[in-house]
Amino acid sequence: MTLFSGIGGVSALDEDTLQFYRNHARAYAERAIAKHTRLTRFLALLPPGAKVLELGCGAGAASAEMIAKGFDVEPTDGSPEMAAEASRHLGRPVPTLLFHDIDKADTYDGVWANACLLHVPRPELAQVLTLIWRALKPGGYFYASFKTGDAEGRDVFNRYYNYPSADWLRTSYANAGSWSSISIETGEVMGFDNLRAPMLFIVARKASEFRAPGAA
Ligand code: SAM
Repeated sequence: MTLFSGIGGVSALDEDTLQFYRNHARAYAERAIAKHTRLTRFLALLPPGAKVLELGCGAGAASAEMIAKGFDVEPTDGSPEMAAEASRHLGRPVPTLLFHDIDKADTYDGVWANACLLHVPRPELAQVLTLIWRALKPGGYFYASFKTGDAEGRDVFNRYYNYPSADWLRTSYANAGSWSSISIETGEVMGFDNLRAPMLFIVARKASEFRAPGAA
């Protein structure tokens, strides 16, 4: 059932970035992925068999781990070619879902968005976060990771990055809904461009009591 028609017709995507993933889905899927200790910690926050939406799932490695651990996972990606790679890997259909088309309310115990919301243009990030906040059940957990910096920019593949600071990110979350907790850790990852990038890893919990986004 569609409850929301995106964010007022605004496309929260960067065409060149999405085109990169459409054109390089196989190469991206074939690269080795290190085991994700943050996923293990995130899953420990959730009840057994919890319902989890994965955004920007890439080739589906995180969803494979969640399925193996008995979680009720919905893997999705905004690139049809990448979703097809994930579908091949997982042996189940993987829908194409663009961030601004998330249309569920109070549905998921968890949302996992590793290294994908970092491609949302800065002006639209709070709106996408609002859709994620709505999609979570009260008390649900939301993980995302971002390459950090002071200003938006592009990499050697012309992929767009929002490069937030921790303060900028906290403000964006605060503008997107009511959270009972927000924690940010720092670290580094090796990107597809073979460069180490400083990262922000953020876990937020939707408040149990309903308060509309922006309400004091
Ligand atoms: N989460 C995976 C991982 O950790 O390996 C893939 C990360 S990859 C850096 C970013 C993913 O986000 C790609 O699979 C890409 O297709 C997807 N993506 C980019 N823009 C998107 C959008 N606007 N909506 C949904 N997915 C998008």
